[in-house]
Amino acid sequence: MPMNERMTPTKRRYLFTEQKGQCAVCHEPPSDKGLAADRDEQTGKIIGLLCPRCLRLMQWCHHDIGMLQRARDYSRENVTYDEIER
Ligand SMILES: [Zn+2]
Repeated sequence: MPMNERMTPTKRRYLFTEQKGQCAVCHEPPSDKGLAADRDEQTGKIIGLLCPRCLRLMQWCHHDIGMLQRARDYSRENVTYDEIER
């Protein structure tokens, strides 16, 4: 288990400014729950600030880029049940 990098006020301000005050994934402004630190699971280093929904997504898929790309492709294909029935 890696030592998690500590979130300092300076680091948080830097990331918040870099991300234009938005979640790094969905680009939505922070809700009342704010933006949380997303970390590299291997190193514990802070990657960016995410909204609760995107943080759950990244934690769930373990930052697996292949899985995220497959999910994107799946969404783009947008095959609906109605189209299969035709
Ligand atoms: Zn988000």
